[in-house]
Amino acid sequence: AKKDGGGRYHMHHMEMYQRIARHVFLEGEVRQALAKQQFSLSLQPQLETKSRKLYGFEVLLRWHHPKRGLIPPDDFIPILENSAYMLELSYWVLRRSFELLLQIQKLGLTQVRMAVNLSAGQFVDPKLPDYLKALLAEFAVPASYFELELTEQTLVKDINIAIEVMSALRELGFSFAIDDFGTGYSSLAYLKKMPVDVIKIDKSFVFGMLENNADYQIIISTIAMVKNLGLQVVAEGVETGAQLQSLTQHDCDFIQGYYFSRPVPEVELEDFIRAKIKD
Ligand code: C2E
Ligand code: CA
Ligand code: CA
Ligand code: CA
Repeated sequence: AKKDGGGRYHMHHMEMYQRIARHVFLEGEVRQALAKQQFSLSLQPQLETKSRKLYGFEVLLRWHHPKRGLIPPDDFIPILENSAYMLELSYWVLRRSFELLLQIQKLGLTQVRMAVNLSAGQFVDPKLPDYLKALLAEFAVPASYFELELTEQTLVKDINIAIEVMSALRELGFSFAIDDFGTGYSSLAYLKKMPVDVIKIDKSFVFGMLENNADYQIIISTIAMVKNLGLQVVAEGVETGAQLQSLTQHDCDFIQGYYFSRPVPEVELEDFIRAKIKD
């Protein structure tokens, strides 16, 4: 209110109301989406920078709404984040990732890794290690084929539980990547505390790296630091050949981004692999 007058206040009020209404509406719809088979996965290739060989795929969730079309995950995952339904959906993503890995292996790509995003609630779910253990047995693949991606948001819930869960999963053979590195407030502290293998430099630094000196310096010093710690580094959001060239020069291990490929819908995976990937 105050200087803006009542109209402004009213606006905020309306906006908030609309946001809540949308939230409740979406949550209701998304709860039926799994049963109605409206979810699918898209896979985005990650390349080894030097050899330009395929290293793995990041698994990205897609919601095909019958009326509204494709709804991006950033529009519904945050809304679900604290609901039990998110857990159910996350477990569906994990199981489907195992199925797709087998499909990829059948196409002749036997060394490819799957990078799967874990949600915050999933990460403090004590059932997670047993669930993953059961999937490993059912699909008869080693856990070394999976890299689990965590953001700082995933970790903040309870750092001690997080470390416990991570240790249990590590014992099974899973590896971990810290996602969106550099965008949180405590990345370095996490790096010190958490048993991680890979760091993913957030795409917001990559987009302007050749125009903005601060982004450039942040990237090259992050790569150097990560490698000095004995970890590996992925740059995401690589959109141009010039970015790829610069990242290669600076010894970034892996790249992911539209320059090589957008996320590939699972139904197009076979054609994509035949056309674009050579083992
Ligand atoms: P993220 O984990 O940081 O995933 C990378 C996002 O960057 C993806 O967006 C991808 O499509 C996009 N991207 C990749 N390369 C480029 C590029 O060169 N340029 C641009 N502009 N964008 C690029 P997407 O698929 O919309 O996913 C958004 C976020 O939703 C993900 O960010 C992740 O936090 C979350 N998400 C997606 N799938 C899952 C899931 O299965 N579980 C959980 N918990 N979160 C997920
Ligand atoms: Ca990710
Ligand atoms: Ca990311
Ligand atoms: Ca992100």
